[in-house]
Amino acid sequence: MNKKEIIEILKAQNSDEVFKYADHIRRKYCGNIVHLRALIEFSNFCKKQCLYCGINAKNKNVKRYRLSEEQILNTALIAKEIGFKTVVIQSGEDDFYDIKKMCSIIEKIKKMDIALTLSLGEKTKKEYKAYKSAGADRYLLRIETTDKKLYKKMHPGCDFQNRINCLYSLKELGFETGTGILIGLEGQSIESIASDILFFKKLNADMVGLGPFIAHKDTILKDAPCGSTELALRAIALTRIIMPNINIPATTSIETLLKDGRKIALKCGANVVMPNVSPNIAKENYCIYPNKQGICISNKTEFENLRNEIKSLGDEISKDFGISKNFVAQKNL
Ligand code: SAH
Repeated sequence: MNKKEIIEILKAQNSDEVFKYADHIRRKYCGNIVHLRALIEFSNFCKKQCLYCGINAKNKNVKRYRLSEEQILNTALIAKEIGFKTVVIQSGEDDFYDIKKMCSIIEKIKKMDIALTLSLGEKTKKEYKAYKSAGADRYLLRIETTDKKLYKKMHPGCDFQNRINCLYSLKELGFETGTGILIGLEGQSIESIASDILFFKKLNADMVGLGPFIAHKDTILKDAPCGSTELALRAIALTRIIMPNINIPATTSIETLLKDGRKIALKCGANVVMPNVSPNIAKENYCIYPNKQGICISNKTEFENLRNEIKSLGDEISKDFGISKNFVAQKNL
């Protein structure tokens, strides 16, 4: 698909056919399988000032917290015991966890025989390399937008090229690499979303997360309208059609804005759910946007409930680590 065609579909009135086709492609290439990732939000300290984000450094109303290594490991172990095969550890950009601290956490989680995804923001290549050597498998770093002007506006003091370089370093170091964007940022055009999707392809991303922007009252964008869930679903469907064998989550921000958003996204090309398993202090204070409605799982009963929901969609929970088929294909080249 070229940019013009992508734009046409993003702008179309009725997307039913596109959603149906994306669902067909997902089932053909990735099977009737949904991968679960246990999300641990381990620190909301952040040195960045991203205009849209509720935990940005400027927000004085955030109750900041950091989980200790022990708390992170305990949470990961509980997730494993409940049945998860992947743990994602995410934080603001928090230099408290230096290379030594992070590598210690990574090594210990990997001893649990579980796949590990990191989402810690922009780090140096040296740091990424150390995380990889310590055993981390995957890394999530959304590009957020490929519109350079918009990127600059949304991320004061940040360098677009550095974020791009981070993504290419992660790929080069052998991480299963995830990226993605916000949908509906003030000033974002449909044309730029089409370019974003082509960027995922160019990077050869293994995972792509797309979610609508949700305004947070303590940010400069407090009065900006939220992103359209319909547009986000269209972008998910198009990404699936263009990149048939990658992993795509049903994002929490879709769930937050749209009733049954998780189920709907899983019918439009998504094949991953990331339930929150964080301790309460994190659930209450990792507030990147208000009213986060994503699914939380803290015991086997809740896990089984999700299994039933997934069954009702004609899918099954994956029994393995759920490595992106796109990643496996590159390894086998
Ligand atoms: N510090 C890490 C993790 C950031 S939080 C990093 O830089 O990668 C994870 C994602 O939440 C971000 O990439 C962003 O796309 C999303 N996010 C942040 N604020 C948001 C908001 N107000 N609405 C919707 N999504 C948001």
